[in-house]
Amino acid sequence: MVAPRLVLVLGDQLTESVAALRAADRGRDLVVMAEAMDEATYAPHHPQKIALFFAAMRKFAARLAAAGWRVAYSRLDDPDNAGSIPGELLRGAAQVGASEVIATAPGDWRLRAALEAAPLRLRMLEDDRFICSARDFAAWAKGRKTLRMEWFYREMRRRTGLLMEGDAPAGGRWNFDAENRKPPKAGLGFPDPPAFAPDRTVREALDLVADRFGAHFGDPEPFAWPTDRDEALTLLAHFLRHALPRFGDFQDAMATGAPAMFHSLLSAALNLGLLLPLEVCRAAEAEWRAGRAPLNAVEGFIRQILGWREFIRGVWSLEGPDYMRRNALGHRRKLPALYWGAPTRMRCMAEVVGQTRRLAYAHHIQRLMVAGNFALLSGVDPAEVHRWYLSVYADAVEWVEAPNTLGMSQFADGGAVASKPYVSSGAYINRMSDYCRRCAYDVKARTGPSACPFNLLYWHFLDRHRDRFAANPRMRPIYRGWEGRDSAARARVLAEAEAFLARLDAGETV
Ligand SMILES: Cc1cc2nc3c(=O)[nH]c(=O)nc-3n(C[C@H](O)[C@H](O)[C@H](O)COP(=O)(O)OP(=O)(O)OC[C@H]3O[C@@H](n4cnc5c(N)ncnc54)[C@H](O)[C@@H]3O)c2cc1C
Ligand code: SF4
Repeated sequence: MVAPRLVLVLGDQLTESVAALRAADRGRDLVVMAEAMDEATYAPHHPQKIALFFAAMRKFAARLAAAGWRVAYSRLDDPDNAGSIPGELLRGAAQVGASEVIATAPGDWRLRAALEAAPLRLRMLEDDRFICSARDFAAWAKGRKTLRMEWFYREMRRRTGLLMEGDAPAGGRWNFDAENRKPPKAGLGFPDPPAFAPDRTVREALDLVADRFGAHFGDPEPFAWPTDRDEALTLLAHFLRHALPRFGDFQDAMATGAPAMFHSLLSAALNLGLLLPLEVCRAAEAEWRAGRAPLNAVEGFIRQILGWREFIRGVWSLEGPDYMRRNALGHRRKLPALYWGAPTRMRCMAEVVGQTRRLAYAHHIQRLMVAGNFALLSGVDPAEVHRWYLSVYADAVEWVEAPNTLGMSQFADGGAVASKPYVSSGAYINRMSDYCRRCAYDVKARTGPSACPFNLLYWHFLDRHRDRFAANPRMRPIYRGWEGRDSAARARVLAEAEAFLARLDAGETV
């Protein structure tokens, strides 16, 4: 009899057509799936994130077994659980006399290295669920001085034919962003996303998480994430019908009490593998072709996946493990306690952190222009910011979280992802949200005891990084405005910003 091989399926590889399963033999091989303590604790993950992964893994294992696969599934509380993925592979290998492992490459350099170091013959296959392979991305990037998402995205539109009319972009334009920056307006209603009430599997996972990880930041419930493909398809269908038509208009807006607005909430299902990116893009395109959603909305949505998601993945694979240690701006501050729920007078931060704690979700502008903006302006060590984002969102896996946090949000990669830092004063948050109306600070005040901290820190950031950014053509006018102010006014802003940062460091409520 031929010896079985082990087929490793990780928690974000829950796709029946994933490379390792395609390469395996159902009659011969043993699928290994493991809830490992190492994976659950390498960052203090939000309880909903851990429960989501475990519940989705358990359901996927049952689905594979029903389809005729032999599955060795280790639960976290199995007494023999070795606590790590390589440990579980070694245990599985000893049990069935296997010496070879077929794996789909993990989207996490740490785990990749751990698998490669295990004393087993490893066949690591490329994760080909992305629309652009790592090799194609590297070929596209080769010889370019800078990598810009927009150029990559156009190339991907041509390659896939998505929203194309012959060789031209549908509607005559590649990008409808200018129409997608509407602020929230009074009386705007939002669709309620479907909530997937915990079934028995989810309930068991939630109980386990409460027992083992109850101290982690984040509320375990209300838990509403889709945990299998059918639920993920339901969420997609609901989004296409109820939110997609307005996705574009209010893509950058933020509103109290409406955590998702017209966003899809699909990132976790996509990242776990319950949905594939190309099927989601094609489904959105079909809505436009059928006349059910306008082009600005559909283009805006498809750009997030075909453009940003694929671009970010390409950068992650190109830059390698060292990316996680980047700190181009030399920021060293500790992450303030308010990120872990300590009280704050800043309404915007309280809203975003509170929502994150409750739901393990924040939409892009909340992540980028509130939580990320504040960390960048304050000069927080990007490694600490990275650890926070990796922990608190249900959709957080390294390949997508790290370039978004270290690159797009913190400029720690020196500009590999973003052409300029995403920073703003309070004016942007005021324009795009209703947060400032209920804040203890005054968004219009530039200095003085009630001055919005974003106003002080914005100029402090620009001033301390003048050497790096003043020559950037898109930032030159901002520097001109700053340097046009009289020196006493500038000195006052900087002194007040310093005083604010000192209070932040001292752990005072700011
Ligand atoms: C600091 C920071 C950290 C982030 N960390 C993560 C993360 O850990 N995991 C994650 O999936 N996304 C991350 N993002 C990107 C983005 O914020 C989320 O994908 C999005 O908010 C998820 O909500 P949604 O599904 O409702 O998105 P929608 O607004 O409905 O967008 C549709 C889909 O497009 C994709 N998408 C949109 N923007 C991006 C982007 N910048 N990069 C990659 N994919 C994108 C997602 O798959 C998303 O589901 C991060 C962004 C920032 C600024
Ligand atoms: S005033 Fe400043 S701190 Fe307050 S909500 Fe607006 S931007 Fe945030």
